[in-house]
Amino acid sequence: MHEAIIVGAGAAATAAALALADRGIRPLVLDIGHTNQSGIPRVEDNLYDFRKRQDSFDLLIGQDLIGLASVLADEERVAKLNAPNMAFITQDSDTLGPLEQAGFHAVQSFALGGLGNGWGAGLYRFVEGDLSGFPYPVAELDPYFDRLTREIGICGADDDLTQFFGAPNDLLPPLKPSFNADGIYRRYQSKRARLNSRKLRIGHPRAGVLSVPQDGRLACDYSNLEFWQEQPYFYTPAITLRKLIDARRIEYRPGVLIASWAETADGVIVTGTDLASGQTISFAGKTLLLAAGAINTAKIVLKSRSDHATRLPLLENPVLQAPFILPASIGRRLDTHCFGLVQLNLVWESPAFNRYLQGSFIELTAPMRAEFFGRFPLSARANLALMRTMLPAMILLQLYFPAEAQAPSHLQLKEDGRLRIEGQPHHIDLSSLRDLLAMLRSLGLWTHPMLIQQPVTGHAIHYAGTLPMSQAPGPYQCDSTGRLTGTRRVFIADSSSFASLTAKNMSLGMMAHAMRVATCALGSRS
Ligand SMILES: Cc1cc2nc3c(=O)[nH]c(=O)nc-3n(C[C@H](O)[C@H](O)[C@H](O)COP(=O)(O)OP(=O)(O)OC[C@H]3O[C@@H](n4cnc5c(N)ncnc54)[C@H](O)[C@@H]3O)c2cc1C
Repeated sequence: MHEAIIVGAGAAATAAALALADRGIRPLVLDIGHTNQSGIPRVEDNLYDFRKRQDSFDLLIGQDLIGLASVLADEERVAKLNAPNMAFITQDSDTLGPLEQAGFHAVQSFALGGLGNGWGAGLYRFVEGDLSGFPYPVAELDPYFDRLTREIGICGADDDLTQFFGAPNDLLPPLKPSFNADGIYRRYQSKRARLNSRKLRIGHPRAGVLSVPQDGRLACDYSNLEFWQEQPYFYTPAITLRKLIDARRIEYRPGVLIASWAETADGVIVTGTDLASGQTISFAGKTLLLAAGAINTAKIVLKSRSDHATRLPLLENPVLQAPFILPASIGRRLDTHCFGLVQLNLVWESPAFNRYLQGSFIELTAPMRAEFFGRFPLSARANLALMRTMLPAMILLQLYFPAEAQAPSHLQLKEDGRLRIEGQPHHIDLSSLRDLLAMLRSLGLWTHPMLIQQPVTGHAIHYAGTLPMSQAPGPYQCDSTGRLTGTRRVFIADSSSFASLTAKNMSLGMMAHAMRVATCALGSRS
């Protein structure tokens, strides 16, 4: 019998496995485990130098044209997941996790490392006020945040956003900013007092990106390639997971789709399908940690109880994408040697929402121009010319709202085995952003409300709250240790057990939470 079984191998599962391994426990990690089999040769230099030298069709578009999916498909797509080297992240998700969706657009991963293979690596600590409704104080996460910061290699700075992003312990120096981000930050510094009095603060992101070499991994080379291929300096949970597997500190078993569990007198039997043979397969453990992502963890719980009636809540952050033009940069050349993702963060304590909103300024130097082609209003030829002129002078603000800014979605297990997810459209009133847009204009950032896009519900990809923690947990809730009501040895380690979802990229918080749950699960056995 295994000491502990973890279902899933994404960010939450990896963190739970790390916590157990740190305490000398060798858990069994069960996963489907897709990996990148595209065979596309690695690019070792800069994206733009490479494109000058060599045909980049395989890297950017791929033989099955997945790179053009946003242009060719009728549905909204998440740009980074269109890269041919990222296709494995969502591979087979329609068949492994079939969904019936209304008003929700879930993105599911059945890969080793999960969705984190494609994330932007914006990794922020939770602080006081972020854990509304959680039955434990945020200070309990501090040792896990410290451990993860050292494991991952997180860059950032002790600046105006520290009060929102948490202690700066062990941060690596911030990355070199792009030309546009540097200009925004300088102008912010000169108007800081006035903007702070209007509750706007701007600072460096906390990113899982090495600004200096660490643990045998190279530092960021500003190659604009993090959008297109795995990069040694860009952290994904697969890095830690592979390290744990190689050191034999965990037992990793890919190729299994777990369906349910049943508790026995002395442990838990976990049952699923061995995908190679199609046969039913079972594993016995003393403790079970579910970390298959908020949607699939909920599915396993409903299936284990043969419950086709209950509708569980599903939280997500509403998000807006606002393209900004920096008139001062029109006519410049594109920043070809730059970090192609988040450059700066803003936090606005918005009177309209009663909670803070968090924004990420993202460089547009890494994605393909095809991503933006359809968004300009002119003819094809004029659009191309406009993009060439405008892209070097643009930056994208991704603005997150707390989940409570919209009614929760719901999920239910159908008799045919599919999950039905019913979502709510966003109703963010753009006029509530007037003050923010005016402040950004004073920093040389111009946009118009008509250019602001509201991605469909589901595309923030911050799923949570299906089995929330509570002081007085109901049947589909967890206690303060993460233990699922009605069970003795089943713990919910991922964001399913979040009681609320603040306007913050949540993955580092979820990883620290998973480490705490794993530690509590061990303690509960003695
Ligand atoms: C493009 C993009 C950008 C993002 N950027 C950020 C960011 O900057 N910052 C941030 O904080 N977050 C970001 N996110 C969100 C972040 O990636 C996810 O919140 C996080 O990775 C979720 O991790 P998880 O462990 O909960 O689940 P997942 O990543 O979904 O992993 C689930 C794991 O469970 C396994 N699994 C599922 N079902 C079963 C089953 N039945 N049996 C066995 N195994 C199973 C899967 O194979 C997988 O390994 C981004 C996501 C995307 C796609």
